[in-house]
Amino acid sequence: MRREHTAVNPTAESPDFSPAEIDVGRRLFAGEWSFLGPAGAVDRLPPLNGIEIAFAGRSNVGKSSLINALTGRRALARTSNTAGRTQELLFFGNPRHRLTLVDMPGYGYAVAGKEKVAGWARLIRGYLQTRVNLARVYVLVDSRHELKSGDEDMLDVLSQAAVSHQIVLTKCDQISEATLARCGDIIKAAIAKRPAAFPDLIATSAHTGAGIERLRAAIARLVEERGPLVS
Ligand code: GDP
Repeated sequence: MRREHTAVNPTAESPDFSPAEIDVGRRLFAGEWSFLGPAGAVDRLPPLNGIEIAFAGRSNVGKSSLINALTGRRALARTSNTAGRTQELLFFGNPRHRLTLVDMPGYGYAVAGKEKVAGWARLIRGYLQTRVNLARVYVLVDSRHELKSGDEDMLDVLSQAAVSHQIVLTKCDQISEATLARCGDIIKAAIAKRPAAFPDLIATSAHTGAGIERLRAAIARLVEERGPLVS
């Protein structure tokens, strides 16, 4: 069943964003985002520049759709039902500032061979260990499915690399608010033991736009903490 959520927030005790912060988030994501290029290996990463925010998640979790919703572009990140189609990090930029969004290759694709999985792990580990301008990785989890083993592996890699990360629930239009709240509590309990994991979740739907402004504001807050972005 499809539901509209206007005020999805499974983390009622988390500090919310003021209208001013929502506005800063909106302005940060306004303007023309474009694809800067891919990197399929650590030695192909673009030079460090400004701040990076990366998005990780299982194939088909709704990562491309979320990046498109954040940037207001219908087809910036390729949305496709062909799971596991890419093994590259994809970089997106905006000429108005030096915030870069990074689409990390999806994981958990059952058909991927051992070699591909090893290549994926090498790329992800190398990226996380060397990217000093990476402010946070958002780990996307389908709100209907809770954490799967691939998600746990990703969270382990992020913890080992001591990279700040936060879980974003996707496709929240597909479940009731009560189920969403229950799922949120289960995931929060699962990540409570992880010091690099931000304890609150952000629930989103790329289809209805729920949570998108909060996520933009959350990213804007991170960016502000890191100092001026405009070169
Ligand atoms: P990716 O593989 O993680 O990049 O996932 P995509 O963005 O390509 O989305 C995978 C599938 O989930 C597509 O059929 C999307 O239309 C669908 N999807 C993505 N976001 C949402 C959402 O917020 N709500 C619903 N109901 N479906 C979504």
